[in-house]
Amino acid sequence: MRLSRYFLPVLKETPADAQIASHRYMLRAGMIRQQAAGIYSWLPLGFKVLKRIEQIVHEEQQRAGHIPMLMPTIQPADLWQESGRYDDYGAEMLRIRDRHDRDMLFGPTNEEMITDIFRAHVSSYKSLPLTLYHIQWKFRDELRPRFGVMRGREFYMKDGYNFDLTEADAKHAYNRHLVSYLRTYERMGLQAIPMKAEGGPIGGDYTHEFLVLADTGESGVFYDSKVTDIRLGDREIDYDDVAQCEGVLDEFTALYARTDDTHDAAIFEERVPEERRREARGIEVGQIFYFGTKYSEPMGATVQGPDGKPTPVHMGSHGIGVSRLAGAIIEASHDDKGIIWPEGVTPFHVGIVNMRVGDEACDATSEALYGTLRTLGLDPLLDDTDERAGGKFATMDLIGLPWRITVGPRGLKNGVVELTSRRTGESEELSPEATVQKLAALYEGHL
Ligand code: ATP
Ligand code: MG
Repeated sequence: MRLSRYFLPVLKETPADAQIASHRYMLRAGMIRQQAAGIYSWLPLGFKVLKRIEQIVHEEQQRAGHIPMLMPTIQPADLWQESGRYDDYGAEMLRIRDRHDRDMLFGPTNEEMITDIFRAHVSSYKSLPLTLYHIQWKFRDELRPRFGVMRGREFYMKDGYNFDLTEADAKHAYNRHLVSYLRTYERMGLQAIPMKAEGGPIGGDYTHEFLVLADTGESGVFYDSKVTDIRLGDREIDYDDVAQCEGVLDEFTALYARTDDTHDAAIFEERVPEERRREARGIEVGQIFYFGTKYSEPMGATVQGPDGKPTPVHMGSHGIGVSRLAGAIIEASHDDKGIIWPEGVTPFHVGIVNMRVGDEACDATSEALYGTLRTLGLDPLLDDTDERAGGKFATMDLIGLPWRITVGPRGLKNGVVELTSRRTGESEELSPEATVQKLAALYEGHL
């Protein structure tokens, strides 16, 4: 993309009502625009990040064997009356009446609808195990929408639902989700720690939340500092391997790590040596639940078991806050100049700053770099505007692309351009060819 033809409405001023870095930078970098409390437009740069996050979620879900689909945002109320949650859900549910006076709602989650789909189409245990998921907009009329997309009212969420014959099978589905979530967050450059949590309106006591440590997080967390040393890394995972998935769950959940809802001071002190006890804040970026037959029983989602008898299926549901992640990643990765995108989710892979637009050598080299990088499958942003150098650098730092190529007349006299890391600020002078090679290598595995 050429900046001269792009839509990047950056703000010079810091928006007064944005309290945390991610909210400030998303507004200043022209990623989002608030349309009503907790409701945002995703402007082109923000939209690119949202799509990159979504893509990683899709890839990791499908790697785990989960099947994508799409359910609507608007749901009929009767499904929720069947499960008994229509009254329970309270003021967070946006209730709508259509022209025929039918009660509808903007879905805050989809347990009822997926259970309805399941019961209509699945009747034998031979169709199990089955995990269906979608990524769709949700609406929850939050009491205090704040922090930009972190606590919106309309937000984008991946929600998946497993259907299994037995509790043991459903536990494997749970473990499989845990592993796939760990991989998902790591690909986004995040450490999200699974913590023992509470069920809330979804139900079920067996549940973990995934938390990104950040001072601005809304959840209080208590953990053993050793838990922050564990990584999934690039180990091979066989998602059908029950023992392996369970082993990963054990590894990641053996040490004390709980949100304030489930925190128990006595257990904390008994199990964690004092020097490793940490009390901090965290951002919830996902949650997994096993809730057995909570929905399948009242809604009649049964299958014929191997013994010929109808049995209600064991279910769980599993959510990732796709739009919240955009904010969470910025909270975890920024400095006082702006965002620092991890390679996995960056909206553009590299910014090319042409220092002297109109200079023949600068224009030719910038264009050549732009073309070659694109041929290699990279997505560069070429600053071909005639703004002064200081402004160009400030914009690049604000929008946080991990790499910047600076093309200037002085360097070109020696046949070099400058490649700068946003994270470290370090620069090196390289020939344009070597620059391209280095970027291609850096992004291997992220394309
Ligand atoms: P919270 O405790 O933050 O209100 P929740 O536990 O009610 O979230 P879940 O039902 O577990 O949310 O939804 C799955 C994921 O969706 C959450 O882990 C979170 O990342 C995201 N999410 C939930 N509510 C919001 C919201 N209002 N804005 C943005 N993302 C949200
Ligand atoms: Mg939750």
